[in-house]
Amino acid sequence: MEPALKQVSQSVYAVVGPEGATNFTIVKSRDGSAALIDADIRRIDEIEKALELTGCARVSYLIDTHEHFDHTSANFYFAQRGIPVIASAGTAGAMRDEGGPDFERMMKPVPELYERFPGLCLTLPNVLFTDSTEVSLPGVTLQLTYRAEDGHSHSKGDTTIYFEEEEVLIAGDLLYTEVHPVTFFGNIPNWLTALKPLFESHYQTLVPGHGPTVEGEQEGRAYFQGMYNYLEDFYGQLQEIKAGRKSTEEVTQHMLRGVYARFGKRRMVQRNINHFLTGRWF
Ligand SMILES: [Zn+2]
Repeated sequence: MEPALKQVSQSVYAVVGPEGATNFTIVKSRDGSAALIDADIRRIDEIEKALELTGCARVSYLIDTHEHFDHTSANFYFAQRGIPVIASAGTAGAMRDEGGPDFERMMKPVPELYERFPGLCLTLPNVLFTDSTEVSLPGVTLQLTYRAEDGHSHSKGDTTIYFEEEEVLIAGDLLYTEVHPVTFFGNIPNWLTALKPLFESHYQTLVPGHGPTVEGEQEGRAYFQGMYNYLEDFYGQLQEIKAGRKSTEEVTQHMLRGVYARFGKRRMVQRNINHFLTGRWF
C-alpha cells in the first residue's frame, strides 16, 4: 500500500494512517539517517516504502510514544536489525506487565505475519528514560518528555517528542484529531491533567497519534482544547450511565452528534462505553 506521506516541515514526514489509523513520523537527519517514531508491524511495508520515498538511507532510532500494539508491534523488526528502540520506562513497564496477551490478541487476525517474520514477538524498548531525554542526529535534536500523569493517562507510557530545530511537536495518542479516541486503556481524569500543559506548548506543526496533522500553534491549541472537552464530556456522560440517569444508547448518540458528528472511527464510541461498563471491550 502506498503511504499517505505528508511533509510537515523540511525534515519531517508524517505517514498519516488511513481513516484515523495510527500515524508514524519520520525525522530525517542531515546525513540521511532517520529517527522513526512509532511503527506497526501490520503496516511495515507502508513504513519501509515511506522511508524509501523520503530518501532515508537507514533508521538510527525507533522511538515508541507509548506501549499500544499499533505503535510498538514493529519493535521486533527494528530491534532485530540492531536499531535501538527508545521509550519511557512507563512504556517498557506496561509492555512487560500487560503487553503479552494484548500482542497475541492483536496478532490473531494476521497470523501470516508470524511466518513472514520468524520469531516475531512482543519486544520491549531497550533504551529507557524516566522523565525526559534528548535524542540527537546530525541537525536534529529531539526532546522526549514523559507525560503520563501519575503513571497513567491515555496509556502508561505517554511521551511527546519535540523536534527543536523545526518546531514540530509529535503528541502521540494524548491527541487525536478529527477521530474518536481510544479511551479504554486510559485513565480519563489523569489524561485531562496531562493535556493542560500542552495547551501552552510551542510548535509550528503538530502531529497527533491519529488523525490529520495541524499547522500553527493557535490551531493546535484549539485541537488540544477540543480533545480536553471531548474527554471531559465523555467522562461526565459515563458517570450519568453509572448513576442510572442515562442509557448507553443515549450516551452513544450524544457522542456521535454535534461537534463530534464529523469525527471518524465512530465505532470507537460504543467500544469505549462497553469497556467502561464491562471492564472489557472485545
Ligand atoms: Zn494508544
